[in-house]
Amino acid sequence: MTTHAPARRLLLVHAHPDDESINNGATMAKYAAEGAHVALVTCTLGEEGEVIPPDLAHLAPDKEDILGEHRIGELAAAMRELGVTDHRFLGGPGHYRDSGMMGLETNSRPGSFWSADVDEAAAHLVEVIREVRPQVLITYDENGGYGHPDHIQAHRVAMRAADLAGEGAYRRDLGTPWTIQKIYWNCVPHSVVEAGFAKLRELGLDSPFTEIASADDVPGVVPDDKVTAEIDGGAYTEAKTAAMRAHATQIAVDGPFFALSNALGQPLFGTEYYRLVRGEPGARTGAREGDLFAGVAA
Ligand SMILES: [Zn+2]
Repeated sequence: MTTHAPARRLLLVHAHPDDESINNGATMAKYAAEGAHVALVTCTLGEEGEVIPPDLAHLAPDKEDILGEHRIGELAAAMRELGVTDHRFLGGPGHYRDSGMMGLETNSRPGSFWSADVDEAAAHLVEVIREVRPQVLITYDENGGYGHPDHIQAHRVAMRAADLAGEGAYRRDLGTPWTIQKIYWNCVPHSVVEAGFAKLRELGLDSPFTEIASADDVPGVVPDDKVTAEIDGGAYTEAKTAAMRAHATQIAVDGPFFALSNALGQPLFGTEYYRLVRGEPGARTGAREGDLFAGVAA
């Protein structure tokens, strides 16, 4: 047994640098501040991302193709804002390459995460799971929230690794078997997205963004009754915003808005939402959990 590991340990699996801050920035900052071990595994460097600031356009894959290296620095800066010290890339930095949006030629290029063998990729994650021994795992739903190949693959690899990590007979060279007690998928309740957009429209477009996005542009929107946990990250909205700003090639933040490379303004949520898909809920029937570790056995 490791004697100095914090009692609560959270693992997040994401596709690209920036996904963690957009989806879980407040949750990560909160648990890190409370002394939990927060570990992030990012599956690619996000090499195929579109670059927002014109002065950094030369980094793009169709130019110098050094966006991935640049984003390693952005991710490190974001993690400093969130107080997270354990962040790694699946198989090491650059082991899997960003596959680009669904349907592009980059999907099938050798080394792309989408073309990776799920079991082989999962083995890298099993090693991390058995080392960190998280009670709680956060990843995407089967559709990766919005159908990006790397997000779908991150979901598959995370779920497969969670299974394999607990199997006694599987790859003992990767560490002592460990079973994760609770698995959550990221989501956003439909009513919250609608209310967020209504508020933005009310504020008017006093922002550099050309248009306001619609609920369809937000990944992981689900009917309200599918949401099982709600983390009030109010005190950490500033840290989340700072972390999102650190991903400057990918995200523009302006007050209560942020925009990705499509320049469509969307609301920045301080409260983050989850669906428990494995394990027992810690809250009474029907109520949303307010703590992802609720009911976790020490
Ligand atoms: Zn992504």
